[in-house]
Amino acid sequence: MGTVHAPWMAAPGTRAVIDALTANGADVRFVGGCVRDALLGWESRDIDIGTPDPPGRVLALLKDASIETRTVPRGIAHGTVTALAGSDRFEITTLRRDERTDGRHAEVAFTDDWREDAARRDFTSNAMSAAPDGTLYDYFGGQADLGAGRVRFVGDPTTRIAEDHLRILRFFRFHAWYGKGEPDAEALAACNAAAHTIPTLSGERVQAEMLKLLAAPDPLPAIETMRETSVLAQLLPDTPRTDHLARLIAIEGDVGEADSIRRLAVLLADAAGAHDVATRWRLASADATRLADLCAPPAPVSPDLDRPGQRRRLYRLGPALFRDLVLLAWAKEAQGENETAWRAMLETAAAWEEPALPVTGADVLACGVEAGPAVGRLLFAVEAWWKDRDFAPDRADALAKLKELAAAGRPE
Ligand code: ATP
Ligand code: MG
Repeated sequence: MGTVHAPWMAAPGTRAVIDALTANGADVRFVGGCVRDALLGWESRDIDIGTPDPPGRVLALLKDASIETRTVPRGIAHGTVTALAGSDRFEITTLRRDERTDGRHAEVAFTDDWREDAARRDFTSNAMSAAPDGTLYDYFGGQADLGAGRVRFVGDPTTRIAEDHLRILRFFRFHAWYGKGEPDAEALAACNAAAHTIPTLSGERVQAEMLKLLAAPDPLPAIETMRETSVLAQLLPDTPRTDHLARLIAIEGDVGEADSIRRLAVLLADAAGAHDVATRWRLASADATRLADLCAPPAPVSPDLDRPGQRRRLYRLGPALFRDLVLLAWAKEAQGENETAWRAMLETAAAWEEPALPVTGADVLACGVEAGPAVGRLLFAVEAWWKDRDFAPDRADALAKLKELAAAGRPE
């Protein structure tokens, strides 16, 4: 039997939680993604712990050790308690088996059998567990699959997908992150055959899987395979431009960072597509707004913009959206023919400090204009004049202009 070690296993927060959970001698283990990632030497954000103790006892043990806990409404019924130790979070789940499933929900029963708990997990590399001393339990050959880049269902793919249709998306998500080469043929066929069930999944679950998939270092092969099977058509309204995605990924690797929403945007055709996906996937409102702006820019960016034109766009869009739009426009060029211009624009954005209009409403009132809509109109006119002069006029110039406009607007 192998062993696995990771820095977080020995961290004080982890030790405190493990000590609390084992105070009465329970056999607890780390489970799922943290074990898989530890074998790869990757960091883990969430640490999942399995225990044969039911959730009530888990809560009592943590309370005895003065460890803060959280439970969510259905958490206790599902056997999950969250422990907070310092800045670390631990999800503690009672070992379980799925009793009844309908493709979207599972009724679970608690068990004290580790193998049973492993058998209800989706993929072999997600079904490993590790004792606090690092002893690895690998019931289905997960370590070998992980090493070979094989994402393989525990059991028969068709059956496992019928139990929970989300596993179709999870298959592609894990393939994007951990797969090498061709995906498992039997699993692919099962995904293909069940693709029509995807619309029955809740938007939140689809969103979580798809945004994680798109955040993979290179999601392109997985996305291509999803297009070839009929899976992607169940998720996106338009025929996706995977060639654009390929270039965006390359550009991000060169000048930026991976970004799921930006990658999603390059796969969509227009504002209607963005709205469709934001609604269907129940995107958070900030993500939905950003996606809409990326698919239907409030103002276009073009490689022909001169420097003052770029600054006007930056002022209008803000540097983050400007940068996103440059990356997207660049990705959509067949040959990257304007690479030099795009790079220069990204530099302009990085150096951008938003200028402040050097006059305010108080200055307008001081010119003798009465409070009311005229104040806003005058400020707007001064701002337009100031932008047209590349934001150069200082306060004295802007005050003079304001006085001139106020005098011109005043009735005789
Ligand atoms: P990540 O690091 O992205 O969170 P993870 O492996 O922790 O990866 P989660 O979605 O957080 O993935 O799920 C935790 C574990 O729970 C998985 O490793 C797997 O064992 C199990 N699991 C989660 N969802 C399912 C599912 N739909 N069907 C079967 N097992 C699942
Ligand atoms: Mg997780």
